[in-house]
Amino acid sequence: MGLLTEGTPLTWEETKNLAQHVREHGIIQFINIYRKLKERKGDVLKWGDEIEYVIVKFKDETKEAKVSLRAEDLLSILNKKEQDDPDGVKSLWRPEFAAYMIEGTPGKPYGGTLAHFNVVESNMKMRRKEASELLKPDESIMSITNFPRLGCPNFTDPPTKPSPEGDGSKSLFFPDEAVFSGHPRFMNLVRNIRKRRGEQVAINLPIFRDKNTKIPVDDSHKIRKAAKPDCVYLDAMGFGMGCCCLQLTFQACNIEEARVLYDQLTPLSPIMLAFTAASPAYRGFLTDVDCRWNVISGSVDCRTEEERGLKPLKENKFVIKKSRYDSIDSYLSAQGEKYNDIEILYNEEDYRKLRDNGIDHLLAQHIAHLFIRDTVSLFSEKINQNDEEDTDHFENIQSTNWQTMRFKPPPPHSTIGWRVEFRACEAQVTDFENAAIVCFIVLVTRVILSYQLNFLIPISKVDENLQNAQKRNACKEQKFWFRKDITTDVSPPEANRCCAGASCEPKDCDLVGLMTVNEVINGKPGVFPGLIPLVNSYLNGMDVDADTHCTIQQYLKFIQKRASGEILTAASFIRKFVTEHPDYKHDSVVSDIINYDLLKRLKDIEEGTKPCPELLGGTTMSKTKENIPHALKNDY
Ligand code: ADP
Ligand code: MG
Ligand code: MG
Repeated sequence: MGLLTEGTPLTWEETKNLAQHVREHGIIQFINIYRKLKERKGDVLKWGDEIEYVIVKFKDETKEAKVSLRAEDLLSILNKKEQDDPDGVKSLWRPEFAAYMIEGTPGKPYGGTLAHFNVVESNMKMRRKEASELLKPDESIMSITNFPRLGCPNFTDPPTKPSPEGDGSKSLFFPDEAVFSGHPRFMNLVRNIRKRRGEQVAINLPIFRDKNTKIPVDDSHKIRKAAKPDCVYLDAMGFGMGCCCLQLTFQACNIEEARVLYDQLTPLSPIMLAFTAASPAYRGFLTDVDCRWNVISGSVDCRTEEERGLKPLKENKFVIKKSRYDSIDSYLSAQGEKYNDIEILYNEEDYRKLRDNGIDHLLAQHIAHLFIRDTVSLFSEKINQNDEEDTDHFENIQSTNWQTMRFKPPPPHSTIGWRVEFRACEAQVTDFENAAIVCFIVLVTRVILSYQLNFLIPISKVDENLQNAQKRNACKEQKFWFRKDITTDVSPPEANRCCAGASCEPKDCDLVGLMTVNEVINGKPGVFPGLIPLVNSYLNGMDVDADTHCTIQQYLKFIQKRASGEILTAASFIRKFVTEHPDYKHDSVVSDIINYDLLKRLKDIEEGTKPCPELLGGTTMSKTKENIPHALKNDY
């Protein structure tokens, strides 16, 4: 999202009445983008990360930690710097859903040379420092996926109260003041999603059952029909959209390559979700899930009862299986077509219009499918647009389909090419971890493209994996469907050599097998070569300078260790910390003091003041400003 301009949101009734208008013009706008830019080629690899942070306030006297609702204060200063010197800033800051969140990205995207890996972590550190300088002494910005006591009484600073009778979230737990109010978009989404759905959103997370865990968990089920007694009940968009994540965007050389990347990264999304698992605690309880994904999915689920299949279809057209925040439903490349094995809904007329304008089946189906969703946020200034020039109606629907992958067309009149966004990862505690994961995924994309690998499995299996990825301890214990035979007819000899010892014999063995995260990442003898060995084989064929080599190897070593279970995921680390805390009563409760001590501990780990081999592995030599390559120093 770019710097937000103010605007006047329409009421839900007005928005609803314009849903068809947005759909029609959004599709025309996509057709126009496609027509102008389908031949665009020769773009080089560019890429960038996005990290979201929670502003935490530590109250040392009472040993409490709160979320600090100061995002707007920070952003007004950070964005002023950007306005004053748009090309000079080394970081960009954007608002996020919650009044305690900010999002930071590098000032400009990274380029295709391996030397860029040397600046990723130092840019992340610089960003953290830049925002931290604006904080009060007792505040800290933390790249934690979820604030463990989000929604508990008095979890904000300044203190606020939920308004179940108000016209915003209507939550029993999440106050409207915790929604970012610097732009009307966020509260508008809250209201419209609730109104479209016809009721409160509801998420029921199974509680982690310890020996003293109380069931029912609390009294929610007495107040709300939707609440399940043995679950942690969450009832507001903020519980999901108030979580932080780590995202990556890649620019492809042309639309075809973007389609390939979109598809090939899809089977990796559940693997990376399990690998980055960092959010086991919600509303002050340990749950049986390690990841945020289904929470966000439920928190913006605007489907009506008809669309959820609870009532016969009357007002609505479709029963829709997934929330608008969910895993993707179809592949986009020719190679992927045969693995599109789940129902892909769309309006026939939308699809027809796209086809009649020269868009092939797979892309037309993808776009038409995005447009089964109604707009849930519309501004009066944006109703009437020039479809030749503007893309707001397209972006309106595109940007509120929050899926594991996003296929991004070039913005109009820009130098930016066709891009793909990888959206599954949870935010990690330290810049080291975030940098390692980011560099690893970038390297995997390079291997996929240069070795012409094929990771595709049926989409239904990716969906199954995404659910398993969120289970407690999935990174260590779950098995995931993964493709075994990944080389193609056009793979170069190096790729075949690297896979030779691994690929099963005979060649026509089962296409997919069940593997652990460790086996996918580190390899399974006789079955699968492993992503790290593939990356290493790719790097062996490259001319890598010593400094870059050292950076990369350190990141890969960390990835290997976490995948093998030698070191913990953040989710496992948090569970362990909570359950071993002296104040823990074996009742699944993350008390104020446990929350405070946990966040302090995570802060120390991030700052490197107390080493944490069980989360990070051995000593990590962080990339600092001093040892980044001279040529890149001025840019990042
Ligand atoms: P969104 O919020 O829609 O996901 P952003 O505009 O916040 O997207 O940008 C996401 C990431 O894309 C940032 O890390 C940014 O550095 C990166 N980026 C910017 N320009 C390009 C480009 N041309 N190619 C690839 N990535 C880019
Ligand atoms: Mg963004
Ligand atoms: Mg993004």
